[in-house]
Amino acid sequence: MEYILGSKQGACIFCEFAAAPRAAWREKLVLLAQPHALVCLNKYPFAAGHLLVAPRRHVSTLGELSAEEYDATMRLLRDVTERMRVGQRAEGMNVGFNLGKAAGAGIAEHLHGHVVPRWVGDVNFMPVLADVRAMPEHLDDTWRRLVPLLAGLPGDHPEGA
Ligand SMILES: [Zn+2]
Repeated sequence: MEYILGSKQGACIFCEFAAAPRAAWREKLVLLAQPHALVCLNKYPFAAGHLLVAPRRHVSTLGELSAEEYDATMRLLRDVTERMRVGQRAEGMNVGFNLGKAAGAGIAEHLHGHVVPRWVGDVNFMPVLADVRAMPEHLDDTWRRLVPLLAGLPGDHPEGA
């Protein structure tokens, strides 16, 4: 359910993304990086275009974020949600944080928000997700489709975008 299987023992994938050169973003499914926050695709999506927004700094609670980091993370969450709503014609959105293992966080040690575009009847889409999980090229298609959707937002975008 969460983006955990790609992480090495002891390594944090969000910190890895924050440190990755832009040339590695496609492989790592990173879409945008700002000075205090970044956006990536969830490798194990609930729905097509399931995004994760994380502060760059490795913290597990909202309270550990500075005002600047909090503002940057929440503004990015808002901007990405709006781009998905309009650009993907999402009929609904699930947006939020799972804080702590007890709340369902797969990576509890590095705070991240979920942005999940929804469409009426998309529960019927779930069997398809099993294929998406088995075939990473579908994630690559999604990544390439979403790169232009985030164009114009402040921050570093993938090379060639
Ligand atoms: Zn981290």
